[in-house]
Amino acid sequence: MSVKQNLDKINLEIHDISKKSIHSAQPHVIAVTKYVTIERAREAYEAGIRHFGESRLEGFKKKKEALPSDATLHFIGSLQSRKVKDVINDVDYFHALDRLSLAKEINKRANHVIPCFLQVNVSGEESKHGIALEEVTEFINKIKDYENIQIIGLMTMAPFTDDGSYIQTLFRDLRHKSDEIQQFNLEHAPCTELSMGMSNDYQIAVEEGATFVRIGTKLVGE
Ligand SMILES: *Cc1c(COP(=O)(O)O)cnc(C)c1O
Repeated sequence: MSVKQNLDKINLEIHDISKKSIHSAQPHVIAVTKYVTIERAREAYEAGIRHFGESRLEGFKKKKEALPSDATLHFIGSLQSRKVKDVINDVDYFHALDRLSLAKEINKRANHVIPCFLQVNVSGEESKHGIALEEVTEFINKIKDYENIQIIGLMTMAPFTDDGSYIQTLFRDLRHKSDEIQQFNLEHAPCTELSMGMSNDYQIAVEEGATFVRIGTKLVGE
């Protein structure tokens, strides 16, 4: 399938789901290009996609170089602190802020404000990155003096399962937490965005109010 065909189908679905949901705003679709070639990423650009997600340093740099300058690049994978300096100033959005030491390093190395998502491990699975739901507020308070970091929202990865209603509760819990943070009206953490939903579960994420979905396989997979 061409990216255009996949995108048309996904856009239609998203349109229908958001029309029925109380969260009627349509999310941005991030094409996760980590598994695919530069040619396929360019095809996605030609199909109209402007948001691209990469989870590793090398892939990020390659796609950044290859795509036109109006492409928005999201770093969605975990990042080692010692590599922050090599990439952070090229990142338009960082989705995987998951520890204080990383926040410290980003704040030190960034030469402008970096829009960040806090990665939250909602399910509590040990294998997953992210801070616990109960620790989000405390974490946000701790970084309020980090002037190069703005927490624009929360991000999560659901476990890989067929149990849609379980995934739905996880996404809903994340949304409730982000609603809670928004009430504080924090300048350094407006927390208006929600990055959730991948190939396996983006329909559920849209229903639960995602503002960014991150789709790889079903959008650009070959
Ligand atoms: C790989 C990846 C995705 C996309 O995964 P698909 O299942 O291929 O859609 C989304 N988010 C993150 C953080 C990823 O690492």
